Amino acid sequence: MRTAFFHDERCFWHGGGNYALTLPVGGLVQPGGGLPESPETKRRLLNLMRVTGLLAEVDAGSAPAATREDLARVHPDRYLDAFKAASDRSGGELGLRAPFGPGGYEIAALSAGLAKAALFAVLEGRAENAYALSRPPGHHCLPDWPNGFCLLNNIAIAIRAAQAAGLVQRIAVVDWDVHHGNGTEAIFLDDPRVLTLSIHQEFNYPLDTGGVLTRGAEGANINVPLPPGCGEESYLEVWDRIVAPALARHAPEAIVIACGFDASAMDPLGRMLLRGESYRALTHRAMAAAGALCGGRLALVHEGGYSEVHVPFCGHAVIEALSGASASAPDPLGATIGARQPGARWVAGVSDYIGALAAEFGL
Ligand code: ZN
Repeated sequence: MRTAFFHDERCFWHGGGNYALTLPVGGLVQPGGGLPESPETKRRLLNLMRVTGLLAEVDAGSAPAATREDLARVHPDRYLDAFKAASDRSGGELGLRAPFGPGGYEIAALSAGLAKAALFAVLEGRAENAYALSRPPGHHCLPDWPNGFCLLNNIAIAIRAAQAAGLVQRIAVVDWDVHHGNGTEAIFLDDPRVLTLSIHQEFNYPLDTGGVLTRGAEGANINVPLPPGCGEESYLEVWDRIVAPALARHAPEAIVIACGFDASAMDPLGRMLLRGESYRALTHRAMAAAGALCGGRLALVHEGGYSEVHVPFCGHAVIEALSGASASAPDPLGATIGARQPGARWVAGVSDYIGALAAEFGL
């Protein structure tokens, strides 16, 4: 069995809105630039995989869009109807920083379909592990309120579909996107079968969620807000002292990673210091946890990450690790970022904080 990799050119055609970075154009904000959530971060990852040969070492292909029934397990009809109607007209924007163009509904359903296909491939034993190059992303989307570039909650749609199909009940979502996975948290907050664990930069987006006190039913929600400036060492310590024991305690039948790359040192919307090797190391830890706890069943779904140059190398490292492929694409920024990791005293302070959080969560 190999790694399954789901992608579709149509996901790169999603667009809309008139922004310069995250600012609406107007007043003193000159038009141009566009939202940081551009197709190029993802398309360049796919292109890099073609160039290195990695794409030929995985089982790559597209997947059907998620069905209306799939979407409706997570999102209310009134939101889906409003989204579809606006998408059929000329596109628009229904929430906060989540614009879409004509046909955006179908593209978002396809993005969710890629996530569903990845999870199903793993649960049905057709792939050793899987990656979905979903776009638009999903982890911010609440049931009835799209936000933060997210129009449908891809991972939640995939999990609810898998539960409805009788493929899984207990499952865990680990979100290493630099932003809080507020949508995923909200959707599963009352469901103790689904552990949601988000590692994110504190006081980034959204400002009003992601605190340690939001614990969910039976404590099955864990937030790890980190100060800006954390590097590889702190992230791996969070995995070893919080994520790994939390997963072991939950005993999931499968693990899903909300795989954002905006904790990259080069990201315009994050202030963390990760590089390709950091993501490779995190992926190896996720694989080890899945191997120990749930027969290796591991699916990754692409979320944020806005450095068009750096994301492809971080993503390549993740998919190399997943597949054990011989193709490689060494991170050309790796040495530079490695030399700029925080100093020992700073890391020690964060380590104390991580220890306090672990104690707070009873780990
Ligand atoms: Zn993000």
